Amino acid sequence: MQDVRAIYDVIVIGGGHAGCEAAAAAARYGAQTLLVTNRYDTIGEMSCNPAIGGLGKGHLVREIDALDGVMGHVADAAGIQFRLLNRRKGPAVQGPRAQSDRKLYKAAMQAALENQDNLAIYASSVERFVMDEMAVSGVETEDGRTFKAGAVILTTGTFLRGMIHIGQERIAAGRYGEKPSVKLAEQLYGLGLPMGRLKTGTPARLHKHSINWDSLDVQPGDAEPVPFSFLTTEITTPQVPCYITRTTAQTHEIIRQNLHASAVYGGAIEGSGPRYCPSIEDKVVRFAEKASHQVFLEPEGLDSPLIYPNGVSTSLPESVQHDFLRTLPGLENVTIVRPGYAIEYDYVDPRSLDATLALKDIDGLYLAGQINGTTGYEEAAAQGLVAGLNAAARCAGDAPLTFERSNSYIGVMIDDLITRGTKEPYRMFTSRAEYRLRLRADNADQRLTPIAEQRGFTSKVRRDAFHVKQGELQRLHQKLSHYSLTPKQAEAHGLRVNQDGKRRSAADLLALPAVEFADIVQIWPELDVFNSTAKDQAEIDCRYAVYIARQDAEVEALRKDRNIRVPLDFDYAGLAGLSSELAEKLAKARPTDLAAASNIDGMTPAALALILAQLQRRRAQSAA
Ligand code: FAD
Repeated sequence: MQDVRAIYDVIVIGGGHAGCEAAAAAARYGAQTLLVTNRYDTIGEMSCNPAIGGLGKGHLVREIDALDGVMGHVADAAGIQFRLLNRRKGPAVQGPRAQSDRKLYKAAMQAALENQDNLAIYASSVERFVMDEMAVSGVETEDGRTFKAGAVILTTGTFLRGMIHIGQERIAAGRYGEKPSVKLAEQLYGLGLPMGRLKTGTPARLHKHSINWDSLDVQPGDAEPVPFSFLTTEITTPQVPCYITRTTAQTHEIIRQNLHASAVYGGAIEGSGPRYCPSIEDKVVRFAEKASHQVFLEPEGLDSPLIYPNGVSTSLPESVQHDFLRTLPGLENVTIVRPGYAIEYDYVDPRSLDATLALKDIDGLYLAGQINGTTGYEEAAAQGLVAGLNAAARCAGDAPLTFERSNSYIGVMIDDLITRGTKEPYRMFTSRAEYRLRLRADNADQRLTPIAEQRGFTSKVRRDAFHVKQGELQRLHQKLSHYSLTPKQAEAHGLRVNQDGKRRSAADLLALPAVEFADIVQIWPELDVFNSTAKDQAEIDCRYAVYIARQDAEVEALRKDRNIRVPLDFDYAGLAGLSSELAEKLAKARPTDLAAASNIDGMTPAALALILAQLQRRRAQSAA
């Protein structure tokens, strides 16, 4: 780590998930970078759940890693329970996830930044941007320092005019026990940026020794942990199980009786919350028909006494939290170490940004993370990476680096944010991507590492590892397309194919659902010399090739049909497969054509395809 100077290429404000990735990316690109953050010891802090990844989010982490970012390595070093979600479904919707040790995560992130060339860290609060008319040229800190820079990246998370709510109690804070950023928020308002309020929440933290573990179901991790980083060969951190309990009728009754005291339901909070990560109050009200909700009891660390009860975030008063938690099996005598709370904060409408995450109206200022209306560590980190690379590219006089919907979830997220904006905290889902069969977690390196290499910001270790892996894979693909069989020969080997007289390559055979690499090796034993990574990858690539071609055609059809009219009386509620959330939004917005429907906040390509199919059915019926 370097000594601090007065002038930098890039300054990053905030050492959260967006800020760490932004600082590392800018420095990796070659920019002299300064990270200014409130406190050194909170760099890499996980504000809410101690876990990284999941569906959509795990894809983002793989993409960050493919671009040589830090989150994947850090999550691998801190992971204490790895699970590949949707293991039984296809690779396109499998998401790596890991429970993290909060302390190890911070330590690994701080070490990664300390070891990064071109990067200095300064612990203080930024109070003001230095402005030259409508251009940002530096920052001033609370302790009176001024730092100048060619570009500034703002990643203040939930801190801008942050306000914590616990029942009717309100505490000005950016996060529990940390002061909010008020002056900076006021300056942003003063600059005329379009801003609003959002909210999110977190559950109480429980003492591990107050839980009756014997009565609970165990949830073990995967026997063979699947790492996030393409460079991690082995997970060496000890692995621990999680446990599962459930809310009961009594839990729901206590919550219903006390809704008036909840900050969210008592009307104290104006900001919208994450629909996909609802508080327990929300769940009890919105899903009143459900008798019980699952709650995962997740350790906060290997030697931490704290347990994170995943699924019961709340803004009810502490005494009510205590009462309802004690109605869950295993928690009859539970002790709350810290109450759950909701937090409300300012965000900037991301439609004011371009695809590099620079503000269109303020020169030299980039925004990344929760400040852009997203929620989640992974979404924040991915934006930080994009802002960091682009701020550095700007300082070097290089062309911007933007991502496409067709090459990454990063591209999907940024396009969604800057074109549609968001009215509630935006979270990544695989359903948001039209090209989701292409955008798999397994092939993030194939999609993105060449871009990083071409722009010169990959480490030698990654370049070398990628070339070795790709070389092996390409040699295998060549052989797979070269070796072939007639249908009769295939049948003689026990493979069921149409007896249509067409020769099929080994790649064609692997595309058949019932054929595995082991079957191919039976026929051509010389293919067994390839390593298991190449074999697994080739099998997935072949399996998906035909579906990808079909999906590309569907996406193209949707693009052509954007002007198809949607009748005002379209029955969204009756459309099977459409989520109730989208049905509600569409019924309210009543878009007149598919293009207008696609602009609705939260709209997914899959939902558009459903509407299009229904319109085509109606057209066919009325023509008949
Ligand atoms: P943060 O991680 O918040 O980092 C902001 C950083 O900026 C901090 O280091 C802070 O010290 C620094 N900073 C702020 N102001 C200044 C300043 N003026 N000068 C210098 N430094 C400054 N996500 C989910 O996906 N699901 C959830 O259920 C969920 N619940 C949450 C509950 C709570 C209570 C909170 C606080 C967050 C929750 N999150 C949740 C969100 C998750 O924590 C964020 O999405 C993620 O941390 C955002 O990363 P970030 O880098 O944008 O901001």
